[in-house]
Amino acid sequence: MTRSSFTGATQVLGIIGYPIEHSLSPPMQNAALEQLGVDGVYVPFAVEPPMLETAIAGLWSLGIQGFNVTIPHKQTVMPYLASVTEMSQAVGAVNTVWRTDHGWAGTNTDVTGFIAPLQHCDRDWSTARVVILGNGGAARAVVAGCVTLGCSDLWLVGRSADKLQTFVQSWQASPLKPPLHTCLYSELTTLLPDTTLLVNTTPIGMHPHVDASPVTAQQMDLLPVSAIAYDLIYTPSPTQFLRLAVQRGLQTFDGTEMLVQQGAAALQIWTHQKPPVDLMRQTLQAQLGLT
Ligand code: NAP
Repeated sequence: MTRSSFTGATQVLGIIGYPIEHSLSPPMQNAALEQLGVDGVYVPFAVEPPMLETAIAGLWSLGIQGFNVTIPHKQTVMPYLASVTEMSQAVGAVNTVWRTDHGWAGTNTDVTGFIAPLQHCDRDWSTARVVILGNGGAARAVVAGCVTLGCSDLWLVGRSADKLQTFVQSWQASPLKPPLHTCLYSELTTLLPDTTLLVNTTPIGMHPHVDASPVTAQQMDLLPVSAIAYDLIYTPSPTQFLRLAVQRGLQTFDGTEMLVQQGAAALQIWTHQKPPVDLMRQTLQAQLGLT
């Protein structure tokens, strides 16, 4: 599907965020739409925070079929949707919106995206200890994903006791009831020898601080060799965190697969077709200069 083949029937999908220039979703989703033979296009929309309500109404009026939501709108978009799934309600954030007869509906495919690679790992998640570094927005999707996997021993590690407490309290009314414990970084070392999955949800290790890691080499070496290290960061790849994990001999995942899988889940909602996941991964890796 080239731009010259767009017609009045071409369906428009997109992503709202601010800024949006660096989003990797448009090339990934457009490659997938083309492969599926869908008469559609996926467009980035820069929506400044004060314009959010107007933009959501405008997207509806313009007949947009659906859209992704990224920073800083994942939470603030929710009041403007007619319905949201129980999962996105529990996470407190929406990243995928689609048109229904009753208005916009929203869900959170970051949760699906996060657990997708883990579902293929041979682990008994019901007895697994998961240690999550960071207590921001992405940590919420990770917590929901771990509950979905059936994990019963979740530890949230942060640098502020108050923020950790607020995070835990925010789940009290949630039907997910995550079995959450908290600790500060100063106490992390004691958790590591019995950890099955260590997840970095902090931005530590992103450009320009690519040599930084949320854990030291000595801490990484405390993990069992059967443990998994998962970094939500997708650039650089690998991060220093994952390099240390590889040195320890651990299985690793980076944020690329989560990004691919959250996009694939969104595409399936919009098109009702099986997404071309391999092509989406290849397109993303090419964008990231990984191929
Ligand atoms: P966020 O809401 O800003 O949360 C960041 C968290 O990291 C906060 O808990 C913050 O701690 C902590 N943190 C930041 N700098 C730190 C430092 N120097 N030491 C210790 N903790 C630190 O961000 P987010 O939306 O959760 O995103 C976090 C990361 O996940 C980003 O790198 C993002 O690119 C990645 N991500 C990837 C995907 C994917 O599809 N692969 C999806 C979503 C997010 P305080 O609360 O104490 O400030």
